[in-house]
Amino acid sequence: MEVSFSKEVSQLRQGAGTTFHGEGILAITKALLQSGVSYVGGYQGAPVSHLLDVMVQAEDYLAELGVHVEACSNEASAAAMLGASIHYPLRGAVTWKSVVGTNVAADALSNLCSPGVTGGALIVVGEDYGEGASVIQERTYAFALKSSMILIDPRPDLEVMVRMVEEGFALSEAANTPAFLQLRIRACHLRGRFECKDNIAPAVSRRHLMADPAAFDYGRLAHPPATFRHEKLKSEARLPAARRYIVEQGLNELFDGRRDDLGIIVQGGVYNALIRALQQFGLADAFGAGELPILNLNVAYPLAPQQIEDFCRSKRAVLVVEEGQPEFIEQEIALILHRAGIATRLHGKDVLPMAGEYSVEAIAGGLAAFVGEHAPELPLAGGRDWLAAIAARREMVSAALGAPLPARPPGFCVGCPERPVFSAIKLAQQTVGKVHYAADIGCHSFATFEPFSFGHTILGYGMSLASRAGVSPMMQRRTLAVMGDGGFWHNGLLTGVESALFNGDDAVLLIMKNGYTSATGTQEIISTPDDEIKAQTADKHQSLVDRNVTIEHTLRGVGVKWLRVVPSYEVARMKATLEEAFSTDFDGLKVIVAEGECQLERQRRVKPWVAGRLKRGERVQRVKYGVDEDVCSGDHACIRLSGCPTLTLKDSSDPLRVDPVATVIDGCVGCGLCGENAHAATLCPSFYRAEVVSNPGVFERLLARLRQGVIGLLQPA
Ligand code: SF4
Ligand code: SF4
Repeated sequence: MEVSFSKEVSQLRQGAGTTFHGEGILAITKALLQSGVSYVGGYQGAPVSHLLDVMVQAEDYLAELGVHVEACSNEASAAAMLGASIHYPLRGAVTWKSVVGTNVAADALSNLCSPGVTGGALIVVGEDYGEGASVIQERTYAFALKSSMILIDPRPDLEVMVRMVEEGFALSEAANTPAFLQLRIRACHLRGRFECKDNIAPAVSRRHLMADPAAFDYGRLAHPPATFRHEKLKSEARLPAARRYIVEQGLNELFDGRRDDLGIIVQGGVYNALIRALQQFGLADAFGAGELPILNLNVAYPLAPQQIEDFCRSKRAVLVVEEGQPEFIEQEIALILHRAGIATRLHGKDVLPMAGEYSVEAIAGGLAAFVGEHAPELPLAGGRDWLAAIAARREMVSAALGAPLPARPPGFCVGCPERPVFSAIKLAQQTVGKVHYAADIGCHSFATFEPFSFGHTILGYGMSLASRAGVSPMMQRRTLAVMGDGGFWHNGLLTGVESALFNGDDAVLLIMKNGYTSATGTQEIISTPDDEIKAQTADKHQSLVDRNVTIEHTLRGVGVKWLRVVPSYEVARMKATLEEAFSTDFDGLKVIVAEGECQLERQRRVKPWVAGRLKRGERVQRVKYGVDEDVCSGDHACIRLSGCPTLTLKDSSDPLRVDPVATVIDGCVGCGLCGENAHAATLCPSFYRAEVVSNPGVFERLLARLRQGVIGLLQPA
């Protein structure tokens, strides 16, 4: 990737006596090094991509410490990497986006949790839940429960988050159990500070190698009959050890309140939103001190029953603030209280929403009901007014618009190489008819939005081809599966291509070969063009990745017989290739590789290159597209076929035309799609291509003067 994290890498070097200032996810990264981690791995995904990106770029510093970093091919390979901690006293950390990444990793995680670990094993998951999330809405908690893993859910405060990383390793070792450390989107991007410690060079590392492998121990294999003993160990030894450590080390926090008859138990990650909600009612100050005692669960699983009993025993009623469904924590607390014969009234999902992010507003609604029932003497009017004002504002906006606020979905970058392919699919379907379209995870999923509205299903990352296996045999027309090169390497090759070939499926697969896992932050993959190719194509109108044929070799190697590679921006050629794939007599898997470098990554490389040439007074030629408004017919077919944000509308300067005309605004990167679409769809001839030359040569200047002179002569005075 072209983004530099040199500042972040320098922050990782900070030692004792200095103060770290920055983002939550970088603080976690630093905490891993302070904990003496020996190896780090993972698969990128928001909101934790930054951890791995920074670690990869900190290669030189990590080599000094002896820490190994591995950019894994998917979450399953990252989880399997933690196998190093089963026998050896190695602290290891991996990271991915949850819950989807945890789904992919589930097999390896189960097999890791069964024998347990010797060295601390920490899985930093981005809990992509709630507003702004980009995946299915489920909880990592379920995985912790089913595999008896520890789940750390730290209070969003850098000091606490860093401590929970350090304690997380120790807890994992004390309980011989891997631990999740879950971070919501806001916690990852929270800014703050903490006092640094020196990083710890691990005792066993790339610099200090182990002489011999561990002795053979059948009991450490996730294999029967050892697995039967493992199951008993989880409940009889490991979870009790974890509970002891949680209580003895004070990992959960007790915040006293002015009264003792009511209380709140909250997941650590939701604590800040709870305090803000309490503030609306005047029940807490900005630092959390207030009316009601709070038990903050920095470790959300396992719960320590004695701690829960001690907190609840003296209280008439307790509110459990637990985000997401189902109410795992609330149910367990109810069971703990029932078994202990404690009659405290328990509230949670009866007054709070069952599903969705626990925003301040959502929590405030639950607080109003809870406090209103059990302490009506407290002054709640301020909070209720605040809630009413929000509801009124929402209603006012809806009334003014006449409808709910329109959604603002994300879209392709300007000049994205994937957009032309969807234009071609749109055009090809005019010929071959509508096809079943199996979509996938990646930037190409933006084609599910207008103006394309493509996609019948999304079953997971790299799963598109596999997801049409039951549809193809039932459909007269061939099906289309679309995936990116990131998805292809993550899962698509095995779950889709191999299966389709093995079963002789007749289907069409389109792979977007843009060179990166773009949607997760343009991380590099095995088929990313090397620096030599990038340098050669820096000045090309459209960067090429055709010399990097890893995907094509792989496809041919596993037996794909029908394979076409088409430059993404060549709409007419792509349309013809799609039509061929849908109509050929060839019975089997047909793969089209759409080749065009991710424009975001390309612009990151090209912009400084262009700026450098301009600064040195060297010639630079850029391409821009435009619309001749006198020719524009005003039907806007070009916009419906492209969706590029820089191809938009403006009022016509002709007073006799009332309809707006198409226009290309600043920001056009000259990708050429406008021209390609105009030709492929036989649109009106209003588009023109302009070459903007900076620092032209003598001949070009003379030619320009000559042209201007001729134009001047032809124009009336
Ligand atoms: S990041 Fe790259 S692939 Fe994704 S939308 Fe932008 S240009 Fe397209
Ligand atoms: S040429 Fe057209 S599609 Fe490409 S960036 Fe410019 S306006 Fe957008």
